[in-house]
Order: sequence, then C-alpha cells, then structure tokens
Amino acid sequence: MNKEVRTRFAPSPTGYMHIGNLRTALYTYLLTRSKGGKFILRIEDTDQERLVEGATDVIYRTMKDTGLIHDEGPDIGGDYGPYIQSERRNIYKEYAEKLVELGHAYYCFCSKERLDDLREKQEAAKVPTKYDGLCSRLTKEEVQAKLDAGEPYVIRQKMPKYGKTTFKDEVFGEISVENVILDDNVLLKADGLPTYNFANVIDDHLMNVTHIIRGSEYLSSTPKYNLLYEAFGWEIPTYIHVSPVMRDAQKKLSKRDGDASYEDFIKKGYLKEAIVNYIALLGWSPGGDREKYTIDELIEIFDVKGISKSPAIFDENKLAWLNGEYIRELSPEAFHEKALPWYKGVIENPAIDLKEVSALLQKRCEKLSDISEQVDFFDALPEYDIEMYTHKKMKTNPENSLVSLENILPVIEGIEDWTFDNLHDALMELVAKMEVKNGIVLWPLRVAVSGKAFTPGGGVEIAYILGKEETIKRIKTGIEKLK
Ligand code: GLU
Repeated sequence: MNKEVRTRFAPSPTGYMHIGNLRTALYTYLLTRSKGGKFILRIEDTDQERLVEGATDVIYRTMKDTGLIHDEGPDIGGDYGPYIQSERRNIYKEYAEKLVELGHAYYCFCSKERLDDLREKQEAAKVPTKYDGLCSRLTKEEVQAKLDAGEPYVIRQKMPKYGKTTFKDEVFGEISVENVILDDNVLLKADGLPTYNFANVIDDHLMNVTHIIRGSEYLSSTPKYNLLYEAFGWEIPTYIHVSPVMRDAQKKLSKRDGDASYEDFIKKGYLKEAIVNYIALLGWSPGGDREKYTIDELIEIFDVKGISKSPAIFDENKLAWLNGEYIRELSPEAFHEKALPWYKGVIENPAIDLKEVSALLQKRCEKLSDISEQVDFFDALPEYDIEMYTHKKMKTNPENSLVSLENILPVIEGIEDWTFDNLHDALMELVAKMEVKNGIVLWPLRVAVSGKAFTPGGGVEIAYILGKEETIKRIKTGIEKLK
C-alpha cells in the first residue's frame, strides 16, 4: 500500500501573504487533496528578529478566506505538534546534539570578529566565502572545557570534503553538487534556536512529510538537507520546487511595490475566487486553453507534471479579465453587496437607486476598485469639453449633437410615467422620426447626462437612474454648451 501523502505549507510570519507563497500553499493543497492525504500548516518563526505582531493571524485568515483548509496546524492541533517552530526548541537541540554524536556536526565557538575577519580576507582573495572549519578540529576535551566554561556556541553541519550529492526534483530533474563547495552552515544558533536549514529537515521528518513544495530559492540548499537526512538515516521526501512569480522578466513581485500580497489584491477589489483561480495557472498548466476553474475542478485535474520550470509573469490585466468573469457570475444581490462600499463618498444623493447602478456595473466591471471612478458623475455632472460630442463611429459632432439634444428635450419632458421602457420607447420613436442611426441620438444623450465618454451603461440607462428632473437639467446644460 502506498504511504499516505502528507504535505505542509510552512510560511514565516512576515505580516502579509505574498502571492508566491499563496501559490505554494495552493499547489500543496491541490496535491494533497488530489491524493487524499493530509495538509499541515507549520509556522516557521525561528528568525526572532523578523517577527511581526499579528502576522500569524494574517496566515490563518488568508488560508481560511481562500479555502485552503489544513488538517493539522497550530490552531487546530494534530498528532505531530507543536506546529510552531519556536515551541519546538528542545526538539532541535536534541537532534543537533545527536548529529554531533554521529559526527556530522560540531560545536563552533568562533566569535563574530573572527568570522567577519575571515569573510573579509576571503572576499579580498576573491575566493568563495565559507567557514574554514577551525572548530571542527577541536578535540572532545577542548569542546567540553569550553562548554563547561559557558562559552557561547553554535552547532554547524559538517560537510563532506569529497564526492557529490545528487537528488531528484520533480520539476527541475536531477541536480548534483560537489560537496566541497558546501559551507558548514549553522544548524543551531547561539540563542538556541535552529536555522531554517536545520528546522525544516527535522520538522519535515518528524511530521512525516512525504512531499515538499516550496520556492526554487531552496533548490541550491537541498543537497545540504539531504546530507542531514542521510546522516540520521531518514527517508528523503519528494521535492517539488517552484519558480518565482515575477512582475516582469527582471523583477520579482515585491511587497514594496504594493503588488505582491494577497491583501493588496483584495484591497484593489479582486474576488478571492478569481485570485485563487489565476494563481493556480501561474506557473502550472493542465494543458489546453481553458482559464476558468473552481477549486474542486483544480483538485480533480492537478498534476505536478504541469508545473513549469520557468518563472511565471504576473499579468494583472489577465487577472482583471478573469475577475470580471467571476463578477458576472455573482447573483445581482451578491454583487450589489460587494459594490456598496465603493459608492461611499462618491454617490451620496439618496434619489439614486444604487441597486440600479449595480445592475449596470455588473455587466462591465472588471474589479471593484474601478467602481468609484465609473460612477462619479451621478451626484453631479462633471465639467466636460464639447469635443466629447464628437464620435467618429457614431458619426456625431457638436453640430448634429445640438440638434439631437434639442429634439430629445421635449420628448423627455413629455414622459409622464418615468419607467425605463417608456423612456427607451420614446427615444426610439424619436430616432425613427429623425430618420437617423441610433448613435446620432444616443451618443449626445450619454455625454449630456454623464459628461463622460466611458460610462457603465448607455445614455438611456443613465438617464433613467438620474430621474426625469435631473436628466432635463443636464440636457439643458448640454444645449447651452453647444450653442
Ligand atoms: N519558511 C519558509 C518560507 O517562508 C518556508 C520554506 C519551505 O516551504 O520549506 O520561505
């Protein structure tokens, strides 16, 4: 029988959820659910200097929000806890000491000054900077004497001096490194906490993790991890490294540019379903050109083989397009609910029926943050230039627009029962009577009632929402401008 698939998402609490990290979590989740295994959440907080308050909550919230529900983790427990690395201190110490006994690690008492000095000398000599192994040559007695004297220490991994370490990655294939280039990295720091390089191996083993999906920045360190697995005699997990998410060919998405975190995109008015769908296809492809998948469909078809080696470029326009597709699928009530906050401070006039505005917007909105600028003419007619009456395709210009508006005015004044259909029919009658194309009447109407060329609906829809009185007022303004 195959071993149960156990995976983990192991974020460091940085205070935000980077899109690349969320994608790692998503791929891990999809892999696990497609195999019927267990998905673990582990918090990697051993870098005490980088801790940010409330950062773990951001992780819990995002996972819950996006539906990436874990089976074990700090907040729900499990048989392999604790799931927060800072609570596993004793475990790492025990294993680091064991590794010393096994001869694959050693105590190092070198001072910061000595290490700085060593690095400077290596840099000056233009040789790779790495620890020179001084403390690995201390005798057992010398080490004991220093420990007894309470000297501060770290524990370093003892790399083999010869040979090669080779491993297989599911995405990148076989990778080999010459052991001589590997640095004797610190495993346990002077504060008693492990480095990532050590903790990830200990935890993945003790938590019975079978498949590791993580960023390709860890690819080059993986041989060192494998040497640790081998030193302990542990089974090496399956590695799946994924390439970074880039803004363009040169630059990664970065928090500083405000385009890197899940929260940034939620704030910009993207729907979580669209974000999850988009990032699933960002560096992974099921083949074919289909772009829209629910999470259940993704689980059904997910296969590690579809993960690409090349970095993925984040195309916000494509996300916006996909988001628009999701917006169109919402029920009118659900869309209205989401749109409401974006009307605040933009449409304050109680005479405007916001539900009607939402109905118009839902047909053309790509992201919720576009809403405010799409509806900023309802409360007051903005200043506009009469050149807006010129539209090549509609064959309008300021002259024929004036004629149209002068004809529209009495038609509108004559409507007694202000319904959309009455308004629409009356204007169509006018078009027929004037023997012109629709655009000759409707384009000038749109400009006159909105002062804009791009609006969430046509002139008739906007006029209807504005009401008879306000429509008349704006048409009169248009006529004045054009005269
Ligand atoms: N804590 C690491 C990070 O956030 C996790 C890497 C891994 O998945 O092993 O980058």
